[in-house]
Parts: sequence; C-alpha cells; structure tokens
Amino acid sequence: MNPKNTPITFIDSHCHLDFSRFSDVDSVIATAKCHGVTQFIVPSVDHHNWQAVLNLAKRHQAIFFALGVHPYFLSTDNQLAQLSELAQQHHASLVAIGEIGLDGAIHTPLTEQLTVLKYQLKLAKKFDLPVICHAHKAYDPLLKQLRIYQLVRGGVIHGFSGSLVQAREFIKLGFKLGIGGGVTYPRATKIKTTLSQLSLSDILLETDAPDMPLHQQQGMINTPANVALIAQVIAEIFNTSLSDVANQTTLNCQQIFRLDQKQ
Ligand SMILES: [Zn+2]
Repeated sequence: MNPKNTPITFIDSHCHLDFSRFSDVDSVIATAKCHGVTQFIVPSVDHHNWQAVLNLAKRHQAIFFALGVHPYFLSTDNQLAQLSELAQQHHASLVAIGEIGLDGAIHTPLTEQLTVLKYQLKLAKKFDLPVICHAHKAYDPLLKQLRIYQLVRGGVIHGFSGSLVQAREFIKLGFKLGIGGGVTYPRATKIKTTLSQLSLSDILLETDAPDMPLHQQQGMINTPANVALIAQVIAEIFNTSLSDVANQTTLNCQQIFRLDQKQ
C-alpha cells in the first residue's frame, strides 16, 4: 500500500521503443503510463538507429536516449567518429553512452570488441556521461576495463545476472545493476539470492522491451508496462513495499542519468 496516496511511478531504464516491433509507440507509452511507468530510457545499438532514438526523445518528453555501438553490431564503417560527432552535438540531451559492452558468446573476437568498448568509455569520460553496458559471459573482462577507465559517472550493467562478488565490484565502481524480466522466473534463484544481499539503492528496473519476456509471457512482445510486475518481485525479494521500490529505483535512475538536467 502507498500510505501518502501519491501515485506510484516507475522508470523503464532500458527499452528499445524504436524497434520496428513497436509499430505504435504512442499506445505503448499510454499503456505503460496506466501501469505507473512514466519515463523511458532508450539506448541505441549502432549507427542505424541513432537518429531514430534521437527523434523519439524529441517527440516524447518522457523518453530519454543514449547513443552507442553494441558489441553485436560492430562494423567496418567509421561508426565511432560519427558517434563522437553526434555526442558532441547532442550532449545537452544525451543521457548516456550505450549500449556498449562485451559479449563472450558471439563470433566477434573479444580483442575487436575491446577496441570499440575502450573508444566509447573514453567518449563517456570526455562528455562526463554514464554508460549503459551489455555484458554476457564477459563480466570480468568488463570489470577490468571499468577499473582502468574509472568513469566518474558510473553507469548501469544492464540485465545483470552475475555473482554477488561481481555485483559488489560493479557497485564499487559507481555502477547500478539493471534488473529485468529474468527475475520473474521461478528458476531465477541465483539472482534473487544475490539481490537479497544488496541494497535497493544498487538497482535500476528495466524491461529490455521488446525482448526478454517475463515468466508466463513467453512468446509475447515485452513492453515497458511490465516494469510494474518486475517491481512487484523486487519488493518481495527486499521484503518491502511497492512504493519503496518505485521511489528508490526512480531516484537511482534520475541520479545516474541526471534526468532533471536533460532537455
Ligand atoms: Zn538492450
């Protein structure tokens, strides 16, 4: 229950509203708002969608965007110089460099991924921005880079599923852990145990919509409205109220991305 009777609101800290599976973004946003999800961080994945996320943010006050090159989408085009230029041009409204990261389960060699990651970590440092990180089978090599670059503004490890030790190392470096639909599965005991030993101030809520469907929604398009369901599970793990989860994770998100200062 919410004692003050103020509406409970959430932020989806990671959703891909520009993806073509969302043919009607306005209605996705309207439905999310009905479930208390009032703000949205939309990261990009490579040069093909930079303009799309920028345009979405321009069109909707509730949407904020990030620019970056995801390890799945490294290419030979000169994306990085272009990214640097765009970041310069839009740094007043840009909330993060992302999504960027490392993936140990894809064909692209880690050495290639590292070159692109390092460039983007430098860029985040230059523009005093946090980073949105994708990491899969690569938490330790990512930690190594983050220790070298020591970003003052930290960032988020999106879709976190690592160990408690790794969680604490990221948190020490000023990072939050992005928690999404994975936590709603009964088999997700590892992440639940990890979270129960951390603090609510360490996490951000996210859906990664349209991907990463929740338990009992397999095969469906994931949408930001589901943040409310993820928050419910988080409230159970932390043995606290839904409003407590909403307030603390909203504050975490606003602080990491400085949403109040963005235009
Ligand atoms: Zn994503």
